[in-house]
Amino acid sequence: MTDVSIFTRIMNGEIPSDKVYEDDDCICIKDISPKAPVHLLLIPRKQIPRLVDATAEDQALLGQLMIKAGDIARENGVGDAFRLIVNNGEEAGQTVFHLHLHILGGKQFTESQL
Ligand code: IMP
Repeated sequence: MTDVSIFTRIMNGEIPSDKVYEDDDCICIKDISPKAPVHLLLIPRKQIPRLVDATAEDQALLGQLMIKAGDIARENGVGDAFRLIVNNGEEAGQTVFHLHLHILGGKQFTESQL
């Protein structure tokens, strides 16, 4: 069985968070260690460990997250200028193995910051 992730524990109310959005399928919280003036994490309630672990069954959920990310970015004051990042796997910098989209905005990004 997969261990319960820190994000699932946040969703269950066991760990406090600064929540900006939630619905039946996902929550969005402020990142505890922000890398930009606006740094949010959009997290599906379903505990998919990594993006590559998603299956065809998750297709609608993934689409929903992409669309919701744009809505949430606008609602949090970054208009249409934001970055969406998914770190997949330890070598790519993933530290929490519960799929999440980083929504980053509120500053000028350069290509070299990729
Ligand atoms: P990853 O490195 O792509 O897996 O991103 C995990 C993110 O979760 C990092 O940016 C962390 O700062 C963030 N994070 C870890 N624990 C918490 C928490 O308890 N609340 C909010 N953000 C967290």
